[in-house]
Amino acid sequence: MLTDRINTLSESITIAITTLAQELKAEGKDILSFSAGEPDFGTPQVIKDAAIAAINNNFSKYTAVDGILPLREAIATKLKRDNGLTYAPNQIIANNGAKHSLFNLFAATIQHGAEVIIPAPYWVTYPELVKYCGGKVVEIETHDVDGFKITPEQLKAAITPKTRMLVLTSPSNPTGCIYSKEELIALGKVLEGTDIIVASDEMYEKLTYDGIFTSAAAVSEDMYKRTVTINGLSKSVAMTGWRFGYMAAADTELIKATKKLQSQSTSNINSITQMAAIPGLDGSADADIEMMKKAFIERRDEAVVLINEIDGLSVTKPDGAFYLFVNIKEVSNDSLTFAKNLLDKKLVAVVPGVAFGSEGYFRLSFATDIDTIRTGIARIAEFVKELKA
Ligand code: PMP
Ligand code: GLU
Repeated sequence: MLTDRINTLSESITIAITTLAQELKAEGKDILSFSAGEPDFGTPQVIKDAAIAAINNNFSKYTAVDGILPLREAIATKLKRDNGLTYAPNQIIANNGAKHSLFNLFAATIQHGAEVIIPAPYWVTYPELVKYCGGKVVEIETHDVDGFKITPEQLKAAITPKTRMLVLTSPSNPTGCIYSKEELIALGKVLEGTDIIVASDEMYEKLTYDGIFTSAAAVSEDMYKRTVTINGLSKSVAMTGWRFGYMAAADTELIKATKKLQSQSTSNINSITQMAAIPGLDGSADADIEMMKKAFIERRDEAVVLINEIDGLSVTKPDGAFYLFVNIKEVSNDSLTFAKNLLDKKLVAVVPGVAFGSEGYFRLSFATDIDTIRTGIARIAEFVKELKA
């Protein structure tokens, strides 16, 4: 007999489709997958070396629940250097990926029935975790023509006495949009005088191609106090499988509360990963980050041109992250069927927009090699041509 709360939880669709594509490939099918939300690069050598040294030095015991002090100091230094944010080590906790940071944050702050504002399209995990923690999701719809960003007016209209939190993702998964400093200031002004927490998911910070990345907490003293900054190394230094994320908050009581939860659930994150994360944070891997970023820009630029050449599809160039959120409204109003048929007929895996709360789109990850991008988009073009015929 399972609980109601587990029965209402959906599986991560992004992971489900990626796994299905891998299984079909293993069966020998010529699958081209654009579903994975992870870099196709290996982890930088400097990080692997730190992990190997940690293993050889028997750094294999339990550590402090929130992470060893040198790790939290490295996070604090990174947040100061890159983001202009001052956090002490006791305002920071290391988690098993940013997904775990979000879970701990929601579990610690969302009372039953509290409302959480989530701009759509959103990353698949937010609404599921909010609901699991007893919260109510309040979506704000955005569209490609508006750059997929919420306005201060929309935010104001969504706030009620029950609003507990606003989730902001910049650069966004799945749209790649980035909020400018001015836009964050304007959103912050709407929140003044409330006790609404901003969960700022900055996972794709290092993958900013156009525009300037700004941390939500950095735009004003008021935003600093209300914002929980969430980040990790999965995307920036290709460490998805290592499981490393963190959150930082001005409110030490909040960090302490999540530490208490972690002490009773997972304890510290993997000790080897902690040692490996330090060179991922302190600038030692910057050349690797630049190399990956350059490759992503080349792939993005080519993929955007190829998609826009397809009659019936359109996409705006994303400013960051490694996804195209492609508009299919001219050819389909059912993204799930579109994605299913594309996989069945052309062996191309993409994620339907409906998984991100936006019908009429699909997400294509360009974190894959250029040949796969060219061949895959050619197959998508054939598929759309046949749909229109
Ligand atoms: N936030 C966003 C926006 C993401 O796309 C992801 C991808 N998995 C995460 C958080 C979580 O990443 P991880 O748990 O690997 O740190
Ligand atoms: N965040 C990635 C994605 O959107 C990884 C999958 C997941 O964690 O759900 O595809």
